[in-house]
Amino acid sequence: MDIAVVGAGVTGSLIAASLQKQGHKVSVFEKSRGRGGRTTCKRTHWGQFDLGAPFIRPTQLPVLNIISELESLGIARRWMVTPYHRGETFVSEKESAPIYVMVPGMNAACHHWLTGCRLATSVQITHLQKTPKGWILWDSTQCKFGLFDWVIVTAPWPQTYSLLAPYVLLAPLEERHWQPCWAVAVQLQSALPDAMPIIYSSDSLLQLAVLDSAKPQRQSQLQTWVMYLTHQASASLSDESSEAVSFKALTALAQMFERDTVDTLQCYAHFWRYARLASEAPRIAPVFDSELGLAAVGDWAVGGSVDASIKAATQFCQQFGENFCYAHVK
Ligand SMILES: Cc1cc2nc3c(=O)[nH]c(=O)nc-3n(C[C@H](O)[C@H](O)[C@H](O)COP(=O)(O)OP(=O)(O)OC[C@H]3O[C@@H](n4cnc5c(N)ncnc54)[C@H](O)[C@@H]3O)c2cc1C
Repeated sequence: MDIAVVGAGVTGSLIAASLQKQGHKVSVFEKSRGRGGRTTCKRTHWGQFDLGAPFIRPTQLPVLNIISELESLGIARRWMVTPYHRGETFVSEKESAPIYVMVPGMNAACHHWLTGCRLATSVQITHLQKTPKGWILWDSTQCKFGLFDWVIVTAPWPQTYSLLAPYVLLAPLEERHWQPCWAVAVQLQSALPDAMPIIYSSDSLLQLAVLDSAKPQRQSQLQTWVMYLTHQASASLSDESSEAVSFKALTALAQMFERDTVDTLQCYAHFWRYARLASEAPRIAPVFDSELGLAAVGDWAVGGSVDASIKAATQFCQQFGENFCYAHVK
């Protein structure tokens, strides 16, 4: 079958790879310039760093199986590091679940999964048109793509909702169910000595600071930190400039290490409007309509993490495979 996948994040890339393995012809449409979605890796003139999910801590099947397959291919690496929690003092995590990163950046798994698929980047699909011969996808420049037997949308739920709403009755998900996040990357002139590479904080506007340059197979000789503001702070600073947010994040990093300032060489900030699904948000069932040839799935169906995306994609491909075989047996 000829299948269009909207979104080249973890969910879309894994689905594209699996369906291609099942023998289908898969075309992936991605609105950003690169692969990875919320596991993106940002390239700048001063180096590259992970700007979305910094690492994953898989605990369950089938995620562990997929990570171990990626590990055997040299794409996932265990990061032997102990996370610390900063309250009044730094406290190490006692029983830390294994931490994995992709190399050379968190989007490496998506690069791997999309090998051999047709991929169109910088293409934002704005609406879907069902014709008697199949689906046509329209983008923001009024270009059309098609014809496809199936369309599988893997965007965050708000974008998925607007694409599917003309065809399927859907549950709306309120804006408050999504947690935004400012991520601020900084390259330091002088290293913070003896710094723990993963610090969760409970008394700062930072929820997490990660020493990106300490991850396996990173290039930078200078310390590069990526700081993630709490969801509350991110929401209240959503209209602030990148410069103002970076300044606040750097001040918080300095305070974490009981310093007045940190010596910054470079800085980059990004606001994620739909970073993660709130833990109390209702889960939305994936859409699977074999009459129409229309489906939607994403982390929102399972939980708002890379683990959730892998689980959602794996379950979807199983259902798709069974459905497709059944259609042939009939
Ligand atoms: C700052 C941050 C920190 C995080 N930290 C962690 C963490 O520590 N651990 C963890 O497990 N998870 C973390 N996450 C969550 C995790 O990254 C996501 O749950 C997961 O990557 C979602 O993958 P996905 O493929 O379902 O969605 P996405 O990655 O959002 O992929 C969807 C893709 O669809 C594209 N798209 C959207 N609309 C269109 C359109 N109309 N046309 C074409 N393309 C479109 C998007 O550009 C995107 O590439 C974090 C996320 C962020 C942003």
